[in-house]
Amino acid sequence: MILTITLNPSMDYVYRRDTFVLGEHNRFENPHKMPGGKGINAARAISYLGGDVICFTTLAGLNGEHIKTMLDSEKFTYINHEINGESRNAITVMHDGAKQTEIVEAGPELSTKEEKEIFDQIDLILNNNSYKVVTINGSVNSRNDSLYLNLLKKIKNEHPDIFLLMDVSGQQLKNIVNSKDIHPYFIKPNIVEFSELVNKEFADKDELIHFLKNFDTNINLLLISCGEHGAVVKYKDNIYNVEIPKVKVVNPTGSGDSTVAGVAYAIDNDYDFESMIKLAMASGMSNAMEKGVGVVNKEVVSELIKKISVDLIV
Ligand code: ADP
Repeated sequence: MILTITLNPSMDYVYRRDTFVLGEHNRFENPHKMPGGKGINAARAISYLGGDVICFTTLAGLNGEHIKTMLDSEKFTYINHEINGESRNAITVMHDGAKQTEIVEAGPELSTKEEKEIFDQIDLILNNNSYKVVTINGSVNSRNDSLYLNLLKKIKNEHPDIFLLMDVSGQQLKNIVNSKDIHPYFIKPNIVEFSELVNKEFADKDELIHFLKNFDTNINLLLISCGEHGAVVKYKDNIYNVEIPKVKVVNPTGSGDSTVAGVAYAIDNDYDFESMIKLAMASGMSNAMEKGVGVVNKEVVSELIKKISVDLIV
């Protein structure tokens, strides 16, 4: 079974318009609206893949109630931990061809007391059921830059056999990667997030591969996703180039979350390494071909898998 953790969920609005002009009055059709936050999107994608998933999240205020009502009609089960404040909105505007403009609110800041309560609640959930995979996804609004590292430590210490996946960024990710003693099994920065992490620009995948040859990490599986260019993966001491075919993109939002969903599903179902990477890529691609976020078509995934290559570089 898989548990996804989303500590800063959102109500996501996607607006579409041929042209979007800054500083002018832009009228839109009503938006496509759905509950979001990376772990919620990943849970949705896992449920589309047919996986066994529970989604833990923290909702607040009237917007939280709204998100709850919408989560009630999703295919996956969720557990909500009520917090203070107001759950955030995340607005995406798709315009001018492939352009995507985003307005993302910070969300309610967690108090120290709430952080402790959340940790206790996660502990309770993990003790109540047998989880093989836990995935912690997305941002958290906390003054504590090591909140995710502390959560990782707590889960690893009490449940050493759980596969811990983390799709987080910024300082929280830096503190996890720099930790001397404890590591997640998997992280999935996209190439921009990885650049920020290591403070270096990469012109293309070749430069990234070259850099990874000397990048020392204790994280077993490092997947750096590169959008339409596939991914570069460091697994144990090997580096792989992952090539994907061209597809007709409708909305790439949530592709990274669907990639993580593929990894979580593959681990939970004992896939070998190559099959796992192919499922992950195909899930991300299938999501990009859909309007919805975290929406994955299993039949499309099966077809895409045949066209993906995972090549050992070193
Ligand atoms: P994130 O959504 O986290 O920024 P990426 O944009 O790298 O992550 O997307 C994750 C994966 O989803 C890619 O590795 C790829 O498999 C798929 N994907 C994303 N965008 C596209 C695209 N435009 N065309 C084809 N596949 C895509």
